[in-house]
Amino acid sequence: MSVTAIVGSNWGDEGKGKVTDFLAGQADFVVRFQGGKNAGHTIINQYGKFALHLIPSGVFFQDVINILGTGVAVDVNAFLSELNELLSRDVPQPRLFISDRAQVVLPIHILFDQYEEERLADQKFGSTKSGIAPFYADKYMKIGIQTSDMLEKDVMYKRLKISSSKKNILLKHLYNKPEINPEKLTEELFEMGKKIEPFLADTASMLQKGLKQGKQILLEGQLGALRDPDHGIYPYPTSSSTLAGFGAVGAGVPPHSITRIISVTKAYSSCVGAGPFVSEIFGDEAEELRKLGGDAGEYGATTGRPRRMGWFDMVATRYGAHIQGATELTLSLLDVLGYRDDIPICINYEIDGKKTDSFPVPHLLDKAKPVLKILPGWKSDISSIRTFNDLPKEAQEYVLFIEKEIEIPIKFISVGPKREDIIIREDK
Ligand code: GDP
Ligand code: MG
Repeated sequence: MSVTAIVGSNWGDEGKGKVTDFLAGQADFVVRFQGGKNAGHTIINQYGKFALHLIPSGVFFQDVINILGTGVAVDVNAFLSELNELLSRDVPQPRLFISDRAQVVLPIHILFDQYEEERLADQKFGSTKSGIAPFYADKYMKIGIQTSDMLEKDVMYKRLKISSSKKNILLKHLYNKPEINPEKLTEELFEMGKKIEPFLADTASMLQKGLKQGKQILLEGQLGALRDPDHGIYPYPTSSSTLAGFGAVGAGVPPHSITRIISVTKAYSSCVGAGPFVSEIFGDEAEELRKLGGDAGEYGATTGRPRRMGWFDMVATRYGAHIQGATELTLSLLDVLGYRDDIPICINYEIDGKKTDSFPVPHLLDKAKPVLKILPGWKSDISSIRTFNDLPKEAQEYVLFIEKEIEIPIKFISVGPKREDIIIREDK
C-alpha cells in the first residue's frame, strides 16, 4: 500500500501538474485534496496542451480513477465545463468521482470574492475571484453545503435560509448589491446537484479499499508550501492547507499511508498575487526571465496575469520543502536558466543588519533583503538531455548546490514542459 503526495515547495506553479501527469501512468488513483478551480496545472502530452483547474491531472489515463476529495472546493459549473473541454478535445472519457462530503462553491461565494476585492481596492489580496476564501470561511463557520446536500432540497433550504439572513445584511449595507433569495438559490443548487449526482461517491472508502488491494495513489497538491494558511506568508496564503500532511485529511487516507512526498521545487522563483517575495527581481531582468519561463512565458494558467519573478530563494525553499515533509525533490524548469551567463541564488536574508538562513515570521519578511551568491551559468539548451551526467558541469553544480543546502535528495530534474522532458536520477 502506498500513497505519494506531489506538492509544491514554493508559491505555486512549480510544475506539479506536469509531474503528476508523468507519474499518473503508473498510478491507480489521482486525488485532488484541497483548493478549487483557482489552480492552474499545465500539462502537455499526446492530446495537446491543457490547463487543468479543478480536475486531477490523471485524467489522460483511462485506467486511472480521478477523485475530488472532501477538502476540495467543488465549483459545479467549472467542473462540468472543464470536463466538456477535455472531451471536445478528444481526450477519452476519464474516470472521475467527487466526494459526497466535499463542499460546493456557491454562486454567492464568487460574488463575495469580487465584492471584497473591489472594496479593498489597493489593499486587495490579488484573489483569482473564484470564491475560494468565502467558500472556506463558510465551511469552517459550519454553514456550507456538501455535494450530497444538493440532492435534498429541505436540507439545503434550512441552511441557506439561516446563512443568507446574515449575508444579506452585508450585501445590502456593506456592498450595496442584490440580496440572496434562499428559495431561488435552493432550486438553482438542486438543478446543479442533478448534474453531478452521477459523479458522487464515498471516495474515502474507495481509496481505503484501494489501499488494502495494494493500489497506488497520487495526491496532487495545489499551490505551494508558502501559501499554506498556518505555515505560509499569512495574511497572503490561500484558504486551504497546501501541505502533504493535509493530503491525508482532504483525501481521506491514513496519514501513515503517505510514504513518499515529492516536493516540486522551481529552479528560480515565481509568485502570483500579493505578499512578500524577498528574492523578487524587477524591470528588464524580470521581464527576460518571465518571457523565457514556463512553457510559453510565466503568465498565470488561470488568470493570464504576469507572474512576479525572482531568483531561487534558498531560505524560503528549504523551509517550504521541510514543512512539506519532502522525502525527495523534483527540481523543475531547470532548462529555463540556460540563457544566463551567471545565476544568482538568494542564500540568506538580511533583517535589521543580521544575516539569517531560517525563514522568519511573515511580518519580518517585509524587512528582509536578499543576500545573493552567484553561480556560473551553462549557456545552452538542456531540454533534450535525459541523464544527469550528460548535463553541462555548471548545471550539475547548480543542482548539487541546491541539494546540499536543502538536504533532501533531488530525484527528478524537469528540463522542459512535456511529459518526457525529465531526468530521473536512479541512484537517488
Ligand atoms: P503547477 O501549478 O505547479 O502545476 O504549475 P503550472 O502549470 O501552473 O506552471 C508551470 C509552468 O511551467 C507551465 O507553463 C508548465 O507547462 C511549465 N513547465 C513545467 N515543467 C517545466 C520544465 O521543466 N521546463 C519548462 N520550460 N517549463 C515547464
Ligand atoms: Mg499553477
